[in-house]
Amino acid sequence: MSLINNELIAELNAIQQPGPLLAELYRRYRDRVAIGTSGQLTGCALIDLAYKAAGAKMRVFTNDTYRLFPETYNLFNQLEKHYRMKIERFTPPELELKAMVQQYGEYLFFDSKERQELCCHVRKVLPNNKALDTLDVWITGLRADQSKARAGVGRFEIIQHGLEGKKRPILKVAPLASWTEAQVRDYLKANKVPVHKLLDVKLPGGYYYESLGCILCTTPIGPNEPRRAGRWRWFNSSDENKECGLHLPPK
Ligand code: SF4
Repeated sequence: MSLINNELIAELNAIQQPGPLLAELYRRYRDRVAIGTSGQLTGCALIDLAYKAAGAKMRVFTNDTYRLFPETYNLFNQLEKHYRMKIERFTPPELELKAMVQQYGEYLFFDSKERQELCCHVRKVLPNNKALDTLDVWITGLRADQSKARAGVGRFEIIQHGLEGKKRPILKVAPLASWTEAQVRDYLKANKVPVHKLLDVKLPGGYYYESLGCILCTTPIGPNEPRRAGRWRWFNSSDENKECGLHLPPK
């Protein structure tokens, strides 16, 4: 197993294509590498690429907030059947979830930005941390064209994970960082990959779902809206930089 450092990034950076890159990561890190997905288009493309690189032994995980669209759970079932694998579900820690709901109620995300961030922390970031506890390499579907905040995203980043005083490096890899949405859609179509039903429909007035999170916090966007406008729409629909905390440096 290779150490996680800048020399490793330099070696991996020489591998341009996502398929061979995933194959190399699986060869080096085996079950210490996994794709984290919430069922978006890029995540589905990555699963297909990883399956071709590593077979059904690849690890895939999701953070189940208990608030996902029924269509998202259906997609996970479909992917599991199609690729003959099991998607690992990481869920919010019971104590923190109970304490948050008791203090602020189920719908705290409507109250303020701080409470939305708290909810995302408990329902998404803490489960994701449980997944990272088992990994050296975290593969994500981040792409530079998804929002202004993600415009600078590169293929590799070293993050520090763990409790204060016990942190260790994890390699975060976005193999499709430079792909456009059109490229991803072309790949999915050409390879007959199962995709999220809601990401494939056009709604009246040109509205469509650009990305999908929890059911109450996600709405479709109009033809001229920023891509992240549909998330937590009651705060500011023109804000292109909305994030749930998974891809931000810890506060
Ligand atoms: Fe909570 Fe909404 Fe974030 Fe889901 S998207 S974790 S319901 S604030």
